[in-house]
Amino acid sequence: MALMTGEEYIESIRKLNMEIYMFGKRVENPVDDPILRPSLNSVRMTYDLAQMPEYEDIMTAVSPETGKRINRFTHIHRSTEDLIKKVKMQRLLGQQTAACFQRCVGMDAFNAEYSTTYEMDQKYGTHYFENFKNFMFYCQENDLTVDGAMTDPKGDRGLAPHAQADPDMYLHIVERRPDGIVVRGAKAHQTGIINSHEVIVMPTCSMGPDDSDYAVSFAVPVDTKGIFMVIGRQSCDTRKREGSEMDVGNAEFGGVEALVVFDNVFVPNDRIFMCGEAEYAGMLVERFAGYHRQSYGGCKVGVGDVLIGAAAVAADYNGAARASHIKDKLIEMTHLNETLYCCGIACSAEGHPTESGNYIIDLLLANVCKQNVTRFPYEIVRLAEDIAGGLMVTAPSEADFRDGKLGPYVDKYLRGVADVSTENRLRILRLIENLSLGTAAVGYRTESMHGAGSPQAQRIMISRQGNLAMKKKLAKKIAHITE
Ligand code: SF4
Ligand code: FE
Repeated sequence: MALMTGEEYIESIRKLNMEIYMFGKRVENPVDDPILRPSLNSVRMTYDLAQMPEYEDIMTAVSPETGKRINRFTHIHRSTEDLIKKVKMQRLLGQQTAACFQRCVGMDAFNAEYSTTYEMDQKYGTHYFENFKNFMFYCQENDLTVDGAMTDPKGDRGLAPHAQADPDMYLHIVERRPDGIVVRGAKAHQTGIINSHEVIVMPTCSMGPDDSDYAVSFAVPVDTKGIFMVIGRQSCDTRKREGSEMDVGNAEFGGVEALVVFDNVFVPNDRIFMCGEAEYAGMLVERFAGYHRQSYGGCKVGVGDVLIGAAAVAADYNGAARASHIKDKLIEMTHLNETLYCCGIACSAEGHPTESGNYIIDLLLANVCKQNVTRFPYEIVRLAEDIAGGLMVTAPSEADFRDGKLGPYVDKYLRGVADVSTENRLRILRLIENLSLGTAAVGYRTESMHGAGSPQAQRIMISRQGNLAMKKKLAKKIAHITE
């Protein structure tokens, strides 16, 4: 099969029989739901752009195994150039959607599984690499979207998985059968689960020998029996049901997260990538997290581009664009945004091959990248709100703007510069509201904080990778210290 078109992707999701709940009710089909559809439109962009000749080099790659052109989201990175193109692709998609486009978790899981299963097989003589590669070829051939599920609910953070009061707080193996395993547990905050065809499940932390039932990784279709999803609420989500495209700010695109329950799900042997090898749980987590921390140096930068542009347009419409402090704030926003991009590119350029042959980012730089992402988008949002002005949160609704009696007054009194319509001024302010406080704020703000690991997770990695001993040696040598 060739690359899927965006329309084919949407229709392929319609055919799935997922068990999705929202506001206490079953969602018959996410494709037609006004709250969920924008998130599918974001993923669709990963298919639409891959069809366009001008983006072929960035959005697609040639599989070295099959020689076929595949979507880069299903590709295994074979060079630092591949790693850099990945970041550029994510920036492009952030610019086109101003939202989380969700397909990256599968790509990052692919690359982490590829190298980890290879090394596990070398040590144990298992067949996980073969299992994973067969799954990967199937996804490449059918151009599937794959979700990567890592974050367990975790219960008491002070206790290991096996020591929890409720044994299901981390997803685990409950039965080993000749033909496969049965697993139970949940994965929280799952980006893109309702937009994906398949899900790769991975452990969430390093594990000891007592946690071997929790050291499990596999892939299953998202509509496998026993899997169900409870959609997370987002700020202003029900605006999407009100029918006002203007009030939503970004009506076409969005992201979505869900709590995903695995209620005694059967996994056949050929879909298992780890089954009890606790000492490799940490490697899989570290590599997946590293790739995803690199990802944020692309996607959040692209969304930042839109926010900076929106703030500049708001300044134009307010008649404030020539004020030196406004110009300086836009420079500061650009500086912060491009600093994140520098990190994404740098950890890619400094990548290296793993034992399996695929390329991994420089882990120290990828963690520095994500640590900056936990801070800079907040400052960029603060400056955007500063430039936008308070009207961004006090403007009347579109219904008032269209009302026969009220409309002319809203139009008259909320106008900025005379030659720009009030409608356009309100539209750009709604977009800034969406990115800083509305549904997209999940992706641009709180996800910047906690997605791909909370700030402390990066600080632990920075302390491990920072090589303080080498730096002390350098200092002692310069200072002519002999001990
Ligand atoms: Fe991709 Fe960024 Fe969304 Fe993660 S947060 S899935 S990297 S767009
Ligand atoms: Fe994310």
